[in-house]
Amino acid sequence: MQPTRRSLLAAAMAGGLKMSAEPDSHFRGQIAASTVAALMRDEKLSRDALMVKLIARAKSHAHPPISNYFVGAVASGTSGSLYLGQNIEIPGNPLGLAVHGEQSAIANAYMCGEEGIDAVAVNGSPCGHCRQFLSEVSVNISMRVLMGDSLEMKLADLLPHAFGPKNLGFKQGAFPITHTRFSLSTGSNDVLAHEALNAAEQAYSPYSRSPSGAAILTSTGRVFAGAYIENAAFNPSLPPLQAALAGYFAAGPSAGDIERSVLVEGEKTAISQYATTKSTLSAFAPAARLDRFTF
Ligand SMILES: [Zn+2]
Repeated sequence: MQPTRRSLLAAAMAGGLKMSAEPDSHFRGQIAASTVAALMRDEKLSRDALMVKLIARAKSHAHPPISNYFVGAVASGTSGSLYLGQNIEIPGNPLGLAVHGEQSAIANAYMCGEEGIDAVAVNGSPCGHCRQFLSEVSVNISMRVLMGDSLEMKLADLLPHAFGPKNLGFKQGAFPITHTRFSLSTGSNDVLAHEALNAAEQAYSPYSRSPSGAAILTSTGRVFAGAYIENAAFNPSLPPLQAALAGYFAAGPSAGDIERSVLVEGEKTAISQYATTKSTLSAFAPAARLDRFTF
């Protein structure tokens, strides 16, 4: 049965899954523009107020086994869609491989083909790492940051005198997304490899010129792909498996267990994501197979 719009919001606040107008089996953090408009109208909420309300829903899927600090973030796409994200900590791995809530929300927007991000809402002040990551996303858009329901600031004021793409000679940031065509070296028909290849084709890697993509297959048959999203400050760059995990965790427990993953990257590039992907995957699914394909 299709839930009513009011029950959609009620379900959202309870951490439920029936959030999207699409079937739950496709949900990876995106709330379509039409659903956003309906929720705003029916609940008499401004777009900002709705974003702040949805933080709780995003936060309910956080995975912070190390810090026990739950972060929920909601990114506003210029298309009208909203995107949920949550922090993901990876036991047994360096802390630098963790995915922050704001990064998850941006990764989900990126993988849904969003055109640009004009605001992010989060339950607290964004850390310096996230301010740096967000600045790469808002090169051509003046992004606003909503910190709960009491404080709003421009990203430019949160990160003055930012170091970004322009310092390294680039005019664009991670948005708008650009595509490059690649072919698998082996010409494989592996479906998951092609999902990862599609992600690699939209990776953002201007500094290393090492595009990559990852895809994971779950026990329920769902596939989550992630593109590598690089950053001028290098360290906040988001590896492709981490971008895929942003969608996997946003989907919630019904997505099932991770059974297999594929990494696709260039044969001879400046950097490889393989070791990081293998290590990250083993933290969530020790028995899952990882295959590496090249283009
Ligand atoms: Zn952060």
